[in-house]
Amino acid sequence: MAVLADRIANLGTENAFEVGKDIARLEAQGRRIIKFNLGQPDFPSAPHLNAECIRQIEAGNIGYVDPAGILGLRKAIAEHMRKTRGVEVDPDCVVVTAGAKPPIGLTVLSYVNRGDEVVYPSPGFPIYESWIQFLGAVPVPLRLREERDFAFTPEELGDLITPKTKLVILNSPSNPTGGVLSKKDLEGIARVIREKGSPELRVYSDEIYEQILFDGEEHRSLVSEEGMQERTVVASGHSKGFGMTGWRLGWAVLPTVVEAKVFARFNVNTISCVPPFIQEAGREAYESPETAKYVARNLAAFQERRDRIVPALNEIPGIKCRLPKGTFYVFPNVEGYCRDLGILDVYAALPGAERATTSPSTLLQNFLLYVHGIATLGRRSFCRLGSEGEHYLRLSIANSMEELEAGVKAMADAAGDREGFRAFMEEAPHRK
Ligand code: PLP
Repeated sequence: MAVLADRIANLGTENAFEVGKDIARLEAQGRRIIKFNLGQPDFPSAPHLNAECIRQIEAGNIGYVDPAGILGLRKAIAEHMRKTRGVEVDPDCVVVTAGAKPPIGLTVLSYVNRGDEVVYPSPGFPIYESWIQFLGAVPVPLRLREERDFAFTPEELGDLITPKTKLVILNSPSNPTGGVLSKKDLEGIARVIREKGSPELRVYSDEIYEQILFDGEEHRSLVSEEGMQERTVVASGHSKGFGMTGWRLGWAVLPTVVEAKVFARFNVNTISCVPPFIQEAGREAYESPETAKYVARNLAAFQERRDRIVPALNEIPGIKCRLPKGTFYVFPNVEGYCRDLGILDVYAALPGAERATTSPSTLLQNFLLYVHGIATLGRRSFCRLGSEGEHYLRLSIANSMEELEAGVKAMADAAGDREGFRAFMEEAPHRK
């Protein structure tokens, strides 16, 4: 009998956190690492929200509260949905969660049976594939194509929907690609779901980057399209746009009160509730006029960095990088860069079993980290199925301009360093 349950073998992870262990190891050896790995704004949370949280604690608001979330925050989220998506939401359809990650698992747990099909983006946030495989559902990756700015056509989605499709996961603006679904894309997606989806099909629309859109674009959601509110779970939160990653505050808007009660029951079974002082600060984030100024300042910084970093990456031989439309990630194609380093040949010559556990961009990720002190994430970190033959790195630009420029310079210096890569593979410090 094994100690761990069989299902644990299917539980995935998020490499943005996993690579932190390698970074800590290298830093303990005195190495300086430029961190492009973690998706968290490098700004402190907004002073007016910090003050509200502290005020609440000092006022003694520190006990258990409604597992669904405090009514004040749920009302503020409903109002936010009305203002930004044009939909009327019953606050009883809102559930407050500890970040925008929990509702991913809650959605797969609540709607999907073993053997049901789940369509999700690839490249995409790795937690989607983790939950799908953990619960024995059938993963159906929806390929996001670079040529289409990492969007997809409604026809491509339509081809994947069968009578067994229980859930379709969307993420716009998208991690890791920075792609954004246009109004036309959303109309097409809604049409395909209305025409081909079974009445029980649900859509999970992950909108955690809703505040981070460049060039004056406004956020759009599938929930605003005809017939979609009654089958779409919208999830978002405070981590990215409001720079509050460690506060652990997120939310989901469910199609019905019955479904919201299921999510709240999961809260009862796990965290009981999100801390009330965190929720009060989260309410303030939607209600205070100060928040828009804070969000705009961060957005301007992200856009300035994007506009500096993407052209600099494109000057490196073998790298092609599209201009992301949103998020704080850039997702360069590094196929030529891998080829120039000899990585594609080394990968092709690996024994089959080893090849199955890695990829050229994973080898590049390790080489850049261990030899050149740059922490990035390879394509395989963003949903494995559908990643074969694709060569990308994700770089988070939530980092100072100096760090970004130093990192890109280090990547330029590493270009074509075949001897360095050969020696790295021989020494394999990442395996020690
Ligand atoms: N969804 C996507 C697409 C993300 O990129 C992230 C964070 O990286 C999350 C959800 C999780 O957000 P949170 O930190 O609020 O749990």
